[in-house]
Amino acid sequence: MQGSTFLNTKIEFLKGVGIAKAELLHQEFNIYTFNDLLYYFPYRHIDRSKMYQVSQLDDTMQFIQLKGTINNFKTIGQGAGARLVANFNDGTGSIELIWFQGQKWIKESILAGKQYVIFGKLTEFNRIFSMVHPSLEDPLQVDEKLYMKMMPLYNASEKAKKRGIDTKYLMKLLNTLLTDSRLIIEENLPDFIIKKYKVLSRKEAMLQIHFPQNFQILSEAEKRLKFEELFYNQLRILRYKLKRHTNYNGIKISKIGDLFNGFYKNNLPFELTGAQKRVLKEIRADMGSGKQMNRLIQGDVGSGKTVVALMSMLMAIDNGFQATLMAPTEILANQHYVTIKSLLANLPIKVELLTGSITKKNRRPIHEGLLNGEIHILIGTHALIEDAVEFKQLGIAIIDEQHRFGVEQRAKLWKKNEQPPHILVMTATPIPRTLAMTLYGDLDTSMIDELPAGRKPIKTIHKYDNNRLAVYGFIRNEINKGRQVYIVYPLIEESEKLDFKNLTEGYESICREFPLPQFAVSMVHGRMKAAEKDFEMQRFVKGETNIMVATTVIEVGVNVPNASVMIIESAQKFGLSQLHQLRGRVGRGADQSYCLLMTDYKISAEGKLRMKTMVETNDGFKISEVDLQLRGPGDMEGTMQSGVLDLRIASIIFDKEILEAARKEAQSILNNDNDLKKPEHLILNQYLMLYRKTNKWGAIS
Ligand code: ADP
Ligand code: MG
Repeated sequence: MQGSTFLNTKIEFLKGVGIAKAELLHQEFNIYTFNDLLYYFPYRHIDRSKMYQVSQLDDTMQFIQLKGTINNFKTIGQGAGARLVANFNDGTGSIELIWFQGQKWIKESILAGKQYVIFGKLTEFNRIFSMVHPSLEDPLQVDEKLYMKMMPLYNASEKAKKRGIDTKYLMKLLNTLLTDSRLIIEENLPDFIIKKYKVLSRKEAMLQIHFPQNFQILSEAEKRLKFEELFYNQLRILRYKLKRHTNYNGIKISKIGDLFNGFYKNNLPFELTGAQKRVLKEIRADMGSGKQMNRLIQGDVGSGKTVVALMSMLMAIDNGFQATLMAPTEILANQHYVTIKSLLANLPIKVELLTGSITKKNRRPIHEGLLNGEIHILIGTHALIEDAVEFKQLGIAIIDEQHRFGVEQRAKLWKKNEQPPHILVMTATPIPRTLAMTLYGDLDTSMIDELPAGRKPIKTIHKYDNNRLAVYGFIRNEINKGRQVYIVYPLIEESEKLDFKNLTEGYESICREFPLPQFAVSMVHGRMKAAEKDFEMQRFVKGETNIMVATTVIEVGVNVPNASVMIIESAQKFGLSQLHQLRGRVGRGADQSYCLLMTDYKISAEGKLRMKTMVETNDGFKISEVDLQLRGPGDMEGTMQSGVLDLRIASIIFDKEILEAARKEAQSILNNDNDLKKPEHLILNQYLMLYRKTNKWGAIS
């Protein structure tokens, strides 16, 4: 595409930029080229197409524009509250203009009797209209093309604004760029798509997104650009999936052997749920297909993903391969290790644990055992990927994850191996469908949508801090019935001093309230050494302690079926998915379980909504939807770092329908032309290549 040459010009060469501003545009806006600027979309527009008169004003008006003179400066008040007030008159009446900042400069630079165009938010008090910090322009210098229309507003940091890059400056740059005769904005969607979805051309959309004629065409421009973005996002992901299928042969794991059968007959302590059986069948079909498996298992907390993981590993081992399971935390890795070892009792399978706290000396035999094939299953944390861990014949890698790896990061995992192992990703909590499509769009999905039989739904109650005595009474009662209790404190940043103080004070008051020898209390937090944590954890697992006071280190995956009460302190500090994860630590046995959310009275509206959602539903899918709405995709745990959701204009919350349509279209194109070689698809291929070059997606296909 030839148009890209001009758009690839470095931003310093645009009129009005220069070296210093370019530097700032790099740092603060990530704008390096003309093209980056083109894609720096405004966050909203204000309508400046009309010039009002003071006589027309009424108190329903918001942002308006007037033309007149400014006189009679007065300073009112003193100190921090001092403000400069002036009279604005346009011949039909007058309003007040008010400045809190830059008063001296305003007073000196505004000329009496001169005409100004003012723009700002109108406020009315006691029938007097006023405008605070209006934007001022000299009408003689106003470029009508720019100012008398819909005006774009661009985000700019305080730092950038101080150094001259504000919304107006950006608007000028975009105007310069968009009116340059050398600018070519080529179409990147085939004709048939443009017709089918009735979208604007790319060029028209780009012009209108920055400088629209009216709100109607603005929304057309948005629709077109959102579609384009999501369509290419899905085309890329789906093509990646397709290429992987055609380019890589998978390890063939087809035999169901003695280990799997022996485990099923003698070791499995319960009947599998229908959902677990179905998912195992899907996994078996994948691994036996001769293609590499890349599958996501979505299942709510407590739906029994671990045993599905284990049985998948057994399939691999029965066929002469090794297996590995990666967990997000050491505690969880430890626990998987303990659980899996006990589930495998008496079976001739060697399981090892590798985490950051395993010493060098103890690592060597593990490394050797993996290389010579003696070790069948390796369980661990991130350490097992980053280390130079080599297997004799790795057949399957399972990620029990909370980190939300994107497409690229996952690719790294298996590219280390010559022949890629089968990959199974298990989510810690369900994730909304749209997030799954963008984040895990390249994976096949299995759902464990059924909890083991006999589980009683957890009762969730929101309590204010002053009910604490009653809560203690409740705890005592449950312990007397033989149950165990978790009390979780927020310690989001393990270094936060105040949180830590709350935790230790909480622990002390719990110890006072539940004294030895009748009661025993454990404590686990992130500042403890792994061995200490493990020791305390084990005491609780074995039932030697009744209460576990902990931070979120126990959030994911910890499994103590006898624990029936989860108390979450300062619950308003936790996000929804975290609360749901924490709650999922109870309700794992046959007894009625409870989750108590403790907050004080000062709780934000959003906080209240989170508590309400938790009290109302146990359904992880519903909770994840609310979570996504409340926090936005960027803040959903782990997605930020993964950088997969760097969508510039589309939103996976508000543009669900466009996303669905885009995915469907991308899929149907690939279904009948998987190489994108047909003439009408050439444009897609070209744009994908261009995208790859400029956005460094090279690693993925
Ligand atoms: P998660 O999906 O949250 O990882 P786990 O795998 O930790 O859930 O399982 C939760 C609990 O349910 C464990 O105690 C496990 O032994 C038990 N469990 C799993 N599957 C079944 C089943 N089919 N019937 C009864 N209990 C089960
Ligand atoms: Mg789990």
